Amino acid sequence: MFDLLPAPKIEEDLGNSSLPFFRVGLDTSRVKHDHGDLSSLLREMLWNHPGLPVDSRREEKALSILLSDTLPNDARATNPPLYRAQGYTLEVSEGTAALYFETRDGCIHGMSTLVQLLQPEGDGLAIGGDVAGAYTVRCCRIVDWPSIEVRGISPTFAWYAGYGRLGFDTQLWGYGEWAEFLHICADFKINQLNLCMYGYWPFELPEYPETVLRGFPMRVWNPESRNWVTIQYMHPNIAQPFLPRLIGLAHSLGIRMFAYIGLNSYNGGYASEHRDKRMRLPPNSKYVNDFDTLCLSDPSTIAYLGKSVSAVVGLGFDGIVFEESEESLWFCTCPKCRTEYLDGRSPAEAKHRANYRLLKSLHSVIKAANPDCVVGLRAWREPPLEKSQEYLQSMVSSIPSDVVLFWAPGLYVPPEEFAKWVEAFGRERIWARDTESNGVSSCLGRLIRIFRSNGLRCDEETNDQYLEEDVAQHLGSRELGVKGINGYLFEWYGFFIHFFAHAFYGWGSAMPAEEFYRYSIGAVFGPQSADDILYCLRSMFTIHESQLEIFPTEFPFARNKVEDRDEPRIRQAIDEWPDILRRLESVRSRLEERPETRIWLPHFNKLIVAHRRNRVIYDLALAALEYGRAKDAVEKRRWLLRMRDCNRGDFALVRDNYFDVNPVSKTGTRSCMIPCHELERVIGNELHPESRDDVPIYLGVEALGWLWL
Ligand SMILES: [Zn+2]
Repeated sequence: MFDLLPAPKIEEDLGNSSLPFFRVGLDTSRVKHDHGDLSSLLREMLWNHPGLPVDSRREEKALSILLSDTLPNDARATNPPLYRAQGYTLEVSEGTAALYFETRDGCIHGMSTLVQLLQPEGDGLAIGGDVAGAYTVRCCRIVDWPSIEVRGISPTFAWYAGYGRLGFDTQLWGYGEWAEFLHICADFKINQLNLCMYGYWPFELPEYPETVLRGFPMRVWNPESRNWVTIQYMHPNIAQPFLPRLIGLAHSLGIRMFAYIGLNSYNGGYASEHRDKRMRLPPNSKYVNDFDTLCLSDPSTIAYLGKSVSAVVGLGFDGIVFEESEESLWFCTCPKCRTEYLDGRSPAEAKHRANYRLLKSLHSVIKAANPDCVVGLRAWREPPLEKSQEYLQSMVSSIPSDVVLFWAPGLYVPPEEFAKWVEAFGRERIWARDTESNGVSSCLGRLIRIFRSNGLRCDEETNDQYLEEDVAQHLGSRELGVKGINGYLFEWYGFFIHFFAHAFYGWGSAMPAEEFYRYSIGAVFGPQSADDILYCLRSMFTIHESQLEIFPTEFPFARNKVEDRDEPRIRQAIDEWPDILRRLESVRSRLEERPETRIWLPHFNKLIVAHRRNRVIYDLALAALEYGRAKDAVEKRRWLLRMRDCNRGDFALVRDNYFDVNPVSKTGTRSCMIPCHELERVIGNELHPESRDDVPIYLGVEALGWLWL
């Protein structure tokens, strides 16, 4: 039928199209209740069609949009509560589009469907002088409602900012870019953002100015003189605060805004600026990561966390989700924590016990500031991941009864485990389950990994998160009829298909994943580009720089090292590389042709940069294999020099295209998501053993916890 994303529940194609039109005329005479300004809403929903003005009266060559807030009964609507709360009926005939709904949310969803049905002139129309710039719509009848009430995604507003990096992708956006993203969310019926804020706070906190993402020295590349310039960075929302305004826009588009922050991990810069306030490590500890959590026996720490959370509520968020760190191999060994939490308990249980108290205290702070602010929790993430009934009950009774659950064990347990948690907490309290494949991709330093086919022997990897696992998780949520989903979207450019999956399955489709990939890309980019795009997304072959044998630090998301047996695969990728580049560039050219599709250009620019890096990394990997096979020091040195050249070539592409590319060491541990620095260090140590640098540069703070597993 129609290629709509998400797919409507019931659609009838009436076989013909509306007359060509140049404007739309809005008729609200049948709207009986107050749903806010629906004329402004329609303009907002037409944000990406600036050439289609909205009038309040009927005009020549206009499509008349008739709104009615009396939603017809339809026996086929199998979920009457959600049909009434968020559903709509849309009837398009030759000159009129009649949209029926009961709520503003239903109206928004109906409008987003209508906008997707718009066909610009030239698409199936005979082009003539009198229809240039015109639109048509297929005549149809659609009855639609979501299967899941809360369709959330979790993009990053700040991610380990000031700890392992300063910001990339969405973390660098100002109001304009976020506003565009909110419109894209509304276009695809996403109705909640769980905005991740990890690290130095991306908002003002006057009592603790040192914990805010401001004044960070960093080196940025100056292409004009080809040198690095040290600047002091601040988050865009510090430079020009916009969150309250953005939340207002989200609400007008039917999108609720939640903050997604740590429950005592990476809460602002406090743990970095006040290291004496961190949890105290066991003596002679081997753990690298000792700076993400605060000792909870210190009242000044609790006061700080309370003030921080209070500030988050004050920004106007509709909810706050806390994520409990999964690290549980040790707990604070200060005398107070020993007595209060640790004695006689495992570190994991001590952590939970301390965190239950903290959650209760923060819950009170939140509810005192705004009783309607929802509190969510993602916790109990350490082994054993399968919980006994008894333990599940103790979990339920340990947290306030209105705290909702962002379920975590995801892929690492049998599907029945989710059902157990749903039973224990109740469907209404389940607002998410794990869909973290994009979270894993986002740790790969701007390289692309979506499908298993993108990586090196992915079937042998211990970490097994790819897009199809996200789809399986969503399908499980739909089956059990839980309250919500949360799709992680930590990196956006290049990863639109993750977003499509969250939107598509959140609304309630049961389409098999293999069919969905082509369907969703076709629905958004059109049939002409769909095959090229899917081919490229599936065929791009990514080797992460840490996968070279010489790279010393463990990277949990790509543990396979490049071996001699991989050479044929690398050579195949080299052969396929020009064709993939040609296809990516031709898609980019097609997207450039029309204003409506230009919003997707940054995704393809990013894919092309990643693809160019891949090519350099293939040469790097082949040189590394030669280095491994080299018989003598002279030959080894030759291949080391070749590896260093390739690595520098890779980094030149990174440096020329991205903002935050150098190690961050504010906490005392050097960390960078771009592996080129660590590779440069170890190659340098081989070439110049007389001037060794033995301090590793870890691959992002989020990887540190895994180093002990
Ligand atoms: Zn302590």
